[in-house]
Amino acid sequence: MTLTAEQLSEIEAQRSHHGQTLRAIAPGMERRLYTAHSVLDHGFVRVIDYMGDDAAICQAARVSYGKGTKAVSNDEGLIRYLMRHWHSTPFEMCEVKFHVKLPVFVARQWIRHRTANVNEYSARYSILDREFYIPAPDALAAQSTVNNQGRGELLEGEEAARVLEILKGDAMRAYDNYESMLSTEGQKGLARELARMNLPANIYTQWYWKVDLHNLFHFLRLRADVHAQYEIRVYAEKICEIVADWVPIAFKAFEDYRMGGVTLSASAMDCIRRMLKGETVTQETSGMSAGEWREFEGVIAARD
Ligand SMILES: Cc1cc2nc3c(=O)[nH]c(=O)nc-3n(C[C@H](O)[C@H](O)[C@H](O)COP(=O)(O)OP(=O)(O)OC[C@H]3O[C@@H](n4cnc5c(N)ncnc54)[C@H](O)[C@@H]3O)c2cc1C
Repeated sequence: MTLTAEQLSEIEAQRSHHGQTLRAIAPGMERRLYTAHSVLDHGFVRVIDYMGDDAAICQAARVSYGKGTKAVSNDEGLIRYLMRHWHSTPFEMCEVKFHVKLPVFVARQWIRHRTANVNEYSARYSILDREFYIPAPDALAAQSTVNNQGRGELLEGEEAARVLEILKGDAMRAYDNYESMLSTEGQKGLARELARMNLPANIYTQWYWKVDLHNLFHFLRLRADVHAQYEIRVYAEKICEIVADWVPIAFKAFEDYRMGGVTLSASAMDCIRRMLKGETVTQETSGMSAGEWREFEGVIAARD
């Protein structure tokens, strides 16, 4: 992880400052505040600010339910009820602001999540650092033969070495050209907003990303999932660890109902009912397509 000296001293100053507040604080999140958590080779995630905790979710829900919440008296029961019944607005009462450093190709996937607020490092205004994501050997894989949107076996030996050489060489050459185009020594020097355009997508960028807990859970559900690309998944997994410290009860409910749960169609439910009655259901008698049936079998397969 590469933090500038300026960023490190800023973190140190922020962490040494202790103020007093009447606001609710989450002890687990206080321990995380400002600290940068390393992701990939030069990236990081750190919490800049947050609002709310598990109690804030319950407080908001109790406003809307009034006396109705008496039936669900403890916070854990209430949060699990809200999560189970998709009563999502109480989760929006919690917010978090992250500072993230990430490769541009990861940022392109991340930015598709529109329900957040973003402020990105300006490569029109500032010069980008010579920092590129180069996959570790255990992330350098071949195209998957079964999944068009995924990777398969690891590259090995000469092929792996050659690919790494190409990735590093191209990145350095592009950056050398970037610097030479920007230079004002003996020339006008190309504008930063134009010079950046031949930089590869594995260069790092940075942004502040602010999101509420409901939409963060949606992001994590999609990006901490095994189907997400490894390079964004590792960021999502790091954020999961942070959220588990921030709102432990809500995170546990999210893990249970969203990460570990599945959505079943009406036909799938019908098959399960028939199976429970002792009927042998096959794809042909299920009313499902081959693809749906394969996924259904995966869902109901017994765990070891
Ligand atoms: C494994 C994986 C593969 C993907 N592959 C591709 C791909 O090949 N090509 C591609 O283009 N994208 C791809 N995506 C991106 C995906 O289609 C979504 O754009 C991305 O996951 C953001 O999801 P979202 O729109 O639900 O999130 P957000 O933008 O955060 O929105 C959250 C929710 O708010 C609502 N919402 C937000 N904005 C609107 C709106 N304008 N209108 C209506 N409802 C809205 C929707 O309910 C939405 O689900 C992929 C994502 C994943 C996880």
